[in-house]
Amino acid sequence: MRPVKQMTTEVTRGPINLVLLGPPGAGKGTQAVEFAQRHGTPKISTGDILREAVRSETDLGRLAKVTMDAGGLVDDQLMIAIVRERLTRGDVERGFVLDGFPRTVAQAIALDEIMTGQGCLTVVDIAVPDDALVERLARRRVCGQCGNPTSVAAGEARDRCEKCGGELVLRSDDTESTVRERLRVYAEATKPLVDFYSSRPTFRAVDGQQSPAAVGAALAQAVEEMRAARSAGDCGAEGTAG
Ligand code: AMP
Repeated sequence: MRPVKQMTTEVTRGPINLVLLGPPGAGKGTQAVEFAQRHGTPKISTGDILREAVRSETDLGRLAKVTMDAGGLVDDQLMIAIVRERLTRGDVERGFVLDGFPRTVAQAIALDEIMTGQGCLTVVDIAVPDDALVERLARRRVCGQCGNPTSVAAGEARDRCEKCGGELVLRSDDTESTVRERLRVYAEATKPLVDFYSSRPTFRAVDGQQSPAAVGAALAQAVEEMRAARSAGDCGAEGTAG
């Protein structure tokens, strides 16, 4: 249970609009679920939105599947339109956690524009070096039913989700060749976002090579520090007044 004082502080400082950056396999999904639950805000994962579209065989799903299975990035304008629409829904009034968006500088610029007058972004990069990621992604499984990500140890026979009992599956884009392409695309298109955001007072990096609980604690502390700093200053992005 969180102390009452902390909850009061959160309310008076307004919504937390959190963007989680980091390479594939850094643990963004796990941290996004935890953080969103703790703060009662929606987790908006563009990867989940696309996977749901693939499952439902919509036009978007058919379009995205080829790109996703090849480890590439879905078109910027399409992704921007999806997020723009999602951020108009009422449930983001108390804030949101964005996981997997923005992934390019064009998406980050569009997000600043979408957020104009809607409050500050709080950006946290979960940093993990490349060599640790390939191994992590090989161990990653997701629940085919609820989407909960988990990690299986080498030789471990576990095949059921701890949360809902659904079947654990390997994501179709977690095969070794696709993982390598996703890491290449990350380095080329997404890593520059660290430079894009790093001069803002609302940016922090946390060490993603700790246990999920330790990363969660570092993330919570980083967000709290930024919120304290923010109440004394601005968002750090032109046009996004909070
Ligand atoms: P994720 O679950 O975030 O790793 O996303 C899985 C895949 O969905 C990515 O490898 C991309 O193909 C696609 N995707 C998700 N989010 C975006 C985005 N913001 N921009 C472009 N493609 C995306």
